[in-house]
Amino acid sequence: MGVRICPGYRAAGVTPPKLSVPRPTLPNVSTSANAGSPMTTVDVSGATPASDGRGLAGRPLALSPSRAADFKQCPLLYRYRAIDRFAETPTTAQTRGTVVHAALEHLFGMPASLRTRESAELLVEGAWAAMCEERPELAEIIGAADDTKFIADAHKLIATYYTMENPTAFEADAVEEHIEITSGGIRMRGFIDRVDVAPTGEVRVVDYKTGRAPGAAFEAKALFQMKFYALAILRTRGVVPHRLQLMYLSDGQQLVYTPDRDELERFERTLTAIWSAIQAAVATGDFRPQRSRLCSMCEHKARCPEFGGVIPPYPGPPAGSPPAPSPATDPGAA
Ligand code: SF4
Repeated sequence: MGVRICPGYRAAGVTPPKLSVPRPTLPNVSTSANAGSPMTTVDVSGATPASDGRGLAGRPLALSPSRAADFKQCPLLYRYRAIDRFAETPTTAQTRGTVVHAALEHLFGMPASLRTRESAELLVEGAWAAMCEERPELAEIIGAADDTKFIADAHKLIATYYTMENPTAFEADAVEEHIEITSGGIRMRGFIDRVDVAPTGEVRVVDYKTGRAPGAAFEAKALFQMKFYALAILRTRGVVPHRLQLMYLSDGQQLVYTPDRDELERFERTLTAIWSAIQAAVATGDFRPQRSRLCSMCEHKARCPEFGGVIPPYPGPPAGSPPAPSPATDPGAA
């Protein structure tokens, strides 16, 4: 089957390579039939939404950096995303981020000498074409008229990437490494964009960000994610990563973190406390809304009491959920 180009995409004379886009950062898109006018929505779990807008039950719950951030921001938001799995609408920036991540992943599957900027731009176009073929509704989100700009903006991110490092000069040890482990009683899950191993054995973990580097007030969130990946590498590979690097492709900035084992073990106790609090909420269904300025970006206001909405009935713990921790073993209760 050939590659179908999204409506509005015009790359004269160039046929981008067909790519797979395996990373579930941009989940399934569906068309909601219960909102009066058709609306393109995304099931954040990757499952097919049920008729009440909930996603189908899928994998057992696990802690990822984004779900941990959801729970810390607002337990009710966590419930809607992780348990009910209500559909959400992806933004253009999220969609572009998925395209660029897929292109950079495939770039490292090519021989080093071919990892040129031109190759990466073609991979962007191929990733976008593949996504549109799989999920034609994405064109609706981007808007056919903006398709050329969408691709051009993704190419700008790639151009910035090439000012930050030279991918023809080294090999990646792993790209899009799927982590799914149990550590310290926590089921951890996530994807690491890239792992590099130096000839001396030192491990570097790289995460691409398609936005701008955060201000000081938001660095803690970025640091949380980096520590999460560092702990995952420690538990899966048995080594403390020498360097963790967040690469911000909008402004060419990088956040670099060098962890040590003691710090990661303390961080594991923090994760255990968060996981225990989640398990307790899952067992009881008590997920309280926590209003903040981030509510402005929340799509669930219609079902949030902070905004006059009504919380729908709790569907119950997902299959495979562990029992809630007893107070005696709950580090968060200490
Ligand atoms: S609107 Fe705010 S308080 Fe309500 S669910 Fe969303 S994040 Fe939580």
